[in-house]
Amino acid sequence: MTQPKITQPDRMRLLVTGGAGYIGSVCAARLVEAGHDVVALDDLSTGHRDAVPAACRFIEGTVEDAGAVLAEGFDGVLHFAARSLVAESMAQPQRYWLGNVVASLRLLEAMREHGTPRLVFSSTAATYGEPASVPITEEAANQPTNPYGATKLAIDHAIGSYATAHGIAAVSLRYFNVAGAYGRYGERHTVETHLIPLVLQVALGRRNKIMVFGEDWPTPDGTCIRDYIHVVDLADAHERALVQAVPGEHRLYNLGNGTGFSVQQVIDTCRQITGHPIPAQCAPRRPGDPAVLIAASDRAHCELGWKPERADLAVIVADAWEFARRVG
Ligand code: UDP
Repeated sequence: MTQPKITQPDRMRLLVTGGAGYIGSVCAARLVEAGHDVVALDDLSTGHRDAVPAACRFIEGTVEDAGAVLAEGFDGVLHFAARSLVAESMAQPQRYWLGNVVASLRLLEAMREHGTPRLVFSSTAATYGEPASVPITEEAANQPTNPYGATKLAIDHAIGSYATAHGIAAVSLRYFNVAGAYGRYGERHTVETHLIPLVLQVALGRRNKIMVFGEDWPTPDGTCIRDYIHVVDLADAHERALVQAVPGEHRLYNLGNGTGFSVQQVIDTCRQITGHPIPAQCAPRRPGDPAVLIAASDRAHCELGWKPERADLAVIVADAWEFARRVG
C-alpha cells in the first residue's frame, strides 16, 4: 500500500469518473482548459462517448475498474459516476446501493491501495430530505427521503472515515439544482426528469406541454421553489475544492446560488428566452418533492473563495437553450 503524498502541481493527473455524463463532461472540459491531464472513465450506461472532451483519454468501464487505472499513478479523483433518478431509486434500490455505494467503496479502496491523495465527490442536497428550515446549511440534519439521497449520504460517511484513517484529502459537494450548459457540453439524459431540459423540449417541439407537479404548495405562486445553479459555476467549485482539499480531512460544501425560483418562474423565463408559448398543465404533486429547497453556500464562499458568477436564471436558461438547440 502506498501512503498518499499530496503536492499542489499546476498540472495534476486526474481521473474523472462519469466523464461522459452531464456534470462530469463539463468539469472534465474545464479541468483540461485549466491545464490538467484528465482521464475520463465512464461505462456509457447514461453518458455519451462524444461528450468526453477530445483532450481527455477515455476509458470505457465501470467505477469498479478504477483500480487498474489508478495503479498508473494519479493526483486525484473527481467522482461523478452514479445513478441519480429519485423515482428509480425508490423502485430499484439495489441499483443505488450496489451501483452507488458498493462501487464507491471499491473506488475508495483503490485510492487507498494506490495512494491517490485527493477526492472530490458529487454529493447532493437530497441527503437533507425535507428541510426543517431554509436556506439549508451544512449543519442541517441529514434525513434523506429516498434511496438516492441515502446512498449519497452513505458514501459521504465512508469518505469521511477514509479521509481520517488514510490521509485522503476529500471534499463532498452537495449540489442543489444544476442546470445550464458549457458550449457543446450539456444535459442529454435518455430519461429526462429535470425541469429546465423538459421545458426546453416543449420549446423544441419534442413535447406538447410541461406538466407542473402541483400548484397548491405553500409558496407565493403555489409551485415548488428550487435553487438553480449554473453547471459552470459548479465546475469552478470542483476545481477550487480539488486544489484546496486538506490531507486527512473530509470537507463538505453546499453549492447553490442562495436564491429560489418557482416552477412557474422557470417556465416564464424559458418562454422569454425561447420565444415559444410553452403550454403548461397542472398535474398532481410528485411524491417526495419538498416545497422549497434553497442552499446556504456561505461555507463554500468563505473557505473555497467560491462565488457563483452565472446566478441569473435567464443566463442559466439561455445556455441550456443554446445547448438544447445544438443537440436538437
Ligand atoms: N417539475 C415539474 N414538472 C416536471 C419536472 C419537474 O413541475 O416535468 C418540478 C418538480 O416537482 C420540482 C422542480 O420542478 O419542484 C424541480 O424538479 P427537478 O426534477 O428538475 O429537480 P429536483 O428538485 O427534483 O432535484
